[in-house]
Amino acid sequence: MSAMNTQGRPTRPDAVVSADSAPATFSGNRALHLEEKLIFEKDSAGRSGVDLPEPPPVANRLGGLARGEAVGLPGLSEPQVVRHYTRLSQKNYAIDAGLFPLGSCTMKHNPRLNERMARLPGFADLHPMQPESTIQGALQVMQQLSHWIMTLTGMPAVALSPGAGAHGELTGMAAIRAALEARGEAGKRRKVLVPDSAHGTNPATAAALGFQVSGIAEDDTGRVDLKAFEASLGDDVAAIMLTNPNTCGVFEYDIRRIADALHEAGGYFYCDGANFNAIVGRVRPGDLGIDAMHLNLHKTFSTPHGGGGPGSGPVVYSEALAPFAPVPRIQKNADGSLSLVEQAAGDAAQAFGRVKGFHGQMGMFVRALTYMLSHGSDGLRQVAEDAVLNANYLKARLKGEFSLPYGDTGPCMHEVLFDDTFLKGTGVSTLDFAKAMIDEGFHPMTMYFPLVVHGAMLIEPTETETKAALDEFADSLLGLAKAAKSGDTDRFTQAPRFSPRRRLDETQAARKPVLRWQAG
Ligand SMILES: *Cc1c(COP(=O)(O)O)cnc(C)c1O
Repeated sequence: MSAMNTQGRPTRPDAVVSADSAPATFSGNRALHLEEKLIFEKDSAGRSGVDLPEPPPVANRLGGLARGEAVGLPGLSEPQVVRHYTRLSQKNYAIDAGLFPLGSCTMKHNPRLNERMARLPGFADLHPMQPESTIQGALQVMQQLSHWIMTLTGMPAVALSPGAGAHGELTGMAAIRAALEARGEAGKRRKVLVPDSAHGTNPATAAALGFQVSGIAEDDTGRVDLKAFEASLGDDVAAIMLTNPNTCGVFEYDIRRIADALHEAGGYFYCDGANFNAIVGRVRPGDLGIDAMHLNLHKTFSTPHGGGGPGSGPVVYSEALAPFAPVPRIQKNADGSLSLVEQAAGDAAQAFGRVKGFHGQMGMFVRALTYMLSHGSDGLRQVAEDAVLNANYLKARLKGEFSLPYGDTGPCMHEVLFDDTFLKGTGVSTLDFAKAMIDEGFHPMTMYFPLVVHGAMLIEPTETETKAALDEFADSLLGLAKAAKSGDTDRFTQAPRFSPRRRLDETQAARKPVLRWQAG
């Protein structure tokens, strides 16, 4: 390394002091980890980042409702506000900062091209109340996105408006309920079958619509137990809600058999499509006998997840359910123009209603279509292949130290599921292990889900990670697994040691939450 600069200050400290034994700093900051108070605690009443002219005198028309005391908003200058939010943003772990291996969540890179397209003034400055004649381009984007979604899924109808995956589930299952009502069987068919490995939103959706949830056990490979499934079929069954690939990271091979038996028994097949990233371009759900399925644009199609929104969860429907899909729908007029059908009338007479204001998350439609067009159909196929390859690479690297709950039953799909057997007798729990990963600079994987596996650790790397990133991750996990087995328990029970906050009292936080800032 002759080119290395040997002048100036040494770049290597003589002795490494562990963060635990280092004395506390006077400021509370730890190097570039800056402490940040609540914005109300930085308040200086009367300070402001803007100079506004004195308001003109206006007659008070609020009568006795007018507020008598100060509003109580914090007063800060512009640089204080900028620092406050910048420091908060630095406390966030994000996909732009590092690998985010949350199983089932598909935390993949959000291409910057998507952002650029969504910011084009013609899209970004649209108002939902604009006359239709002025938003033809936006409607074309929605129509083209619908076309891609229907082609990729092999399904004849789509509702774009749902605002999240769970919202899509509700929209799909509401159409199933509407179809049962139209058949006059809504009172009789009240049961929805949900495998024990399902995402919690599945039983919640069914229950929210007034269905009774009935669990189905999994077999010893993590797939639906066919015998248990067939035994639960009857004329009281409205639907099954099945995820494929499922949350154990394996493909339900018998899905056609499940669909046929269910249809035979008069039920509908809802598929949770959140894991579509594993099969996009490879498998068309329409060929599997599915009646309704949501897609998470913020998973498979690379739009941002964003703290609880704005997500987008379009739902595709089979021929049987298409008439019951909600409004709005896009319609091509005789003169070639596009319009939105907003009312349940005419062709849309059987629509069960609407689920969202206006037409859904336009910004996400632009991003998702950009992603589809920039990949093309061959590129999307490769997405699924690489997502599966990356998960299997991690599986191969980790399986020597970690434990596979169903044994090594062949390749996994886009995510790999481990359990806590390898931690037995070490005094380290799945939770401790996850906290130690934070010290290593990684967001933990999905923990304790799916519930069918003890101490589950579900890892989904996605296709957007390089081999180098996967190796770095695998090396850290292997190091941790070996440390746990060799009795280095403190590393885990004391973790996280290097994060701005140590372990929180989660019981206290759940039992006695402090939800509101109070002075003093
Ligand atoms: C993410 C996910 C959902 C819910 O999607 P949201 O957009 O978070 O509401 C449902 N099911 C599965 C399997 C998921 O992974």
